[in-house]
Amino acid sequence: MKVLVAVKRVVDYNVKIRVNSNQTAVETANVKMSMNPFDEIAVEEGIRLKEAGTASELIAFSVGPKQSQETIRTALAMGADRGILVETDIIVEPLAVAKCLKAIVEKENPDLVIVGKQAIDDDSNQTGQMLAALLGWSQGTFASKLILSDGSIKVTREVDGGLETVDLKMPAVVTTDLRLNEPRYASLPNIMKAKKKTIDVTNPEELGIDISPRLTVLKVEEPAKRLAGVMVEDVVQLVDKLRNEAKVI
Ligand code: AMP
Repeated sequence: MKVLVAVKRVVDYNVKIRVNSNQTAVETANVKMSMNPFDEIAVEEGIRLKEAGTASELIAFSVGPKQSQETIRTALAMGADRGILVETDIIVEPLAVAKCLKAIVEKENPDLVIVGKQAIDDDSNQTGQMLAALLGWSQGTFASKLILSDGSIKVTREVDGGLETVDLKMPAVVTTDLRLNEPRYASLPNIMKAKKKTIDVTNPEELGIDISPRLTVLKVEEPAKRLAGVMVEDVVQLVDKLRNEAKVI
């Protein structure tokens, strides 16, 4: 069984986000970039399927600039077998990523595609769902547990108020939630080995895909600064302030 995982290069989750000077996007110049945390979980799940003998090959896929090769290399150091980069300097929207993924799926014929539930930069939570729709495949989103058996996959999903388990016919698309697993760190020997693994580079034109943006960003702004709080003497004063200053009761 072949598994394809998507890994996006995003601003590292520890970095304090700043808006760029012309207020068109988040500043990414001279900022630490890393693999999207939900994608680390996707890679880890793929590796576990390989270790269990369920998957025979794990491919890491990304769409983005040349530097996205570093993100793929991280997936290779964790344990993926090879990588595919669809190189572009345009900021890609989820539909464009889903179209690129579909083109690669049609070439590689994986049985399972695992993507993160959302990218922490755009928080779209759309790519996996769009890919499943474009392919006409089953989908299991927000997975916190996967059980594979012959030709089908049980996905436990985190939904409001509990857990739901769906039984999907493969091929399928799964999106990862936080509690699916705890991703491993790449060991030094594996980082060295990853340098020899292959990354195939293609681009949207070669795949015949139009990735031009469909959305226009009007303005990006920082949230308003929070005002300092005040200590109130007692409940009477609190109620008075809520009623007459905040006007919320
Ligand atoms: P989003 O729909 O943008 O929130 O992203 C959901 C998931 O789709 C991410 O966690 C990734 O697994 C995948 N994805 C989105 N954009 C890219 C990209 N440029 N390259 C690779 N994977 C991506």
